[in-house]
Amino acid sequence: MSDENRSPSGGAMAMYVHYCIAPGCKEWGSRGFDRGRGVTDWYCFEHRAHGESSEHKISSKA
Ligand SMILES: [Zn+2]
Repeated sequence: MSDENRSPSGGAMAMYVHYCIAPGCKEWGSRGFDRGRGVTDWYCFEHRAHGESSEHKISSKA
């Protein structure tokens, strides 16, 4: 009946499970944008332009 069979200790999964951060979007975040300080913004294919438009060009500063 219930599909709440997931383990309560799913905290570690947060490192691997990342969905699009666009408001109201539930799509899988297939595109990640490094914001620095270990923060990554994830966007789906449809919203990845949002990330690209605000991406910090930290990688170009080698
Ligand atoms: Zn999205």
